[in-house]
Amino acid sequence: MDDLREQVELLESSAHLSTSINDVQKAIDLLTAARAKIAADPHAAPLTLAKLQDPFKKTLETAQKDLKPIYSGLNKYGKVLDKKFKDKPLPSAENDALSSHPSLINRAIAMHLLREGQFSVASTFVEEANRRPPHPEPTLNTPNPYLKESWEKDLAEGTFNSEKLQQQFAEMYHILHELRNERNLEPAIQWAKERSEILESRGSNLEFELCRLQFVCLFVEQREDNCRDDRPEGPLHAYHYALQELLGFSKRYMRDVQELMGAMAFWQNIEDSPYCRIFYNNSAWEEVAHSFNREFCSLLGLSADSPLFIAATAGAIALPYLLKMQSIMKEKRTEWTTQNELPVEIPLPTPYHFHSIFVCPVSKEQTTDANPPMMMPCGHVIAHESLEKLSKGARFKCPYCPNESHPREAKKVVL
Ligand SMILES: [Zn+2]
Repeated sequence: MDDLREQVELLESSAHLSTSINDVQKAIDLLTAARAKIAADPHAAPLTLAKLQDPFKKTLETAQKDLKPIYSGLNKYGKVLDKKFKDKPLPSAENDALSSHPSLINRAIAMHLLREGQFSVASTFVEEANRRPPHPEPTLNTPNPYLKESWEKDLAEGTFNSEKLQQQFAEMYHILHELRNERNLEPAIQWAKERSEILESRGSNLEFELCRLQFVCLFVEQREDNCRDDRPEGPLHAYHYALQELLGFSKRYMRDVQELMGAMAFWQNIEDSPYCRIFYNNSAWEEVAHSFNREFCSLLGLSADSPLFIAATAGAIALPYLLKMQSIMKEKRTEWTTQNELPVEIPLPTPYHFHSIFVCPVSKEQTTDANPPMMMPCGHVIAHESLEKLSKGARFKCPYCPNESHPREAKKVVL
């Protein structure tokens, strides 16, 4: 990977299209000047054209010369790329889980486009998907591809009434744009205020974070221009804002509000004060934008990141392991028979761990929806199938402690 990175850096540092663009612009300027000259005095045409030839040729030559390092850079980069990613065959369709549920896949794509703010692409996609509804095809591991469960149908069909969702995401992008690009907190604060109760019940700090940032902005606003020793306008402005807006938070965020108020005492040298980190925090805007994005999606019942993106990334990480596994299995002529379980450990990064896995201590099998973990009254947990095998429907002794219980006393554990 280092080779690749090196080439990208080389390409970025050495090859600039801007010089070539300048050269081309020079050539265009020469031509326009000549045209103007000829238009003003048609008799001068032969002379002007003769004079034009040499300098014009030269600028074009320079443009060509400037392009050379770009071509050679691209060439080298292409070679390194080929070396790194050897042409491997794509995995075979033996485990094709996708073609069995095309409407769910379409939904995931449409949702992803909506979440990315690609509204026009999303509506074209939805329109075309509606015009040509996909035909599910049974595959090896999912022989029954038709949507049976009502939640599946709702999911697949629900997205295709995407207008409302689109409006909601348009609002989200508007607020995010104001936050990130315009540094304007107003729309986000308004949004959070309208949902104050529900945000609080979720334990979200968003509303307070936004208001605190507003306080900071008012405090440091135009300090250089307005902050004369006798009239600390920014801090005063912030102080009034705090009286109006922040005091309402003082019950839940006592310490934070106290900090902000304490900072007032240092209004002349906040940079050297213990409160500096609150007032000069470069990532504060990105943090509130991220937090807003997460809360907005949660209130819509969605995760902060696009599930399609997560699935595709996790799949890209897993693919090499699975391909290797496949080739080993072919060599040794063995097969992986356990369904709903991957044959190898896939080392995914921590943000991609969504829930814990439970392995039954009796059967050593990973639990699934059909075979969930069950907790007996003694607190020990085994898989449902193990529970049935051990108990045979009657009172039985826990395999890990002396307690006895009836299988119907066991409770399903949801991880
Ligand atoms: Zn026990």
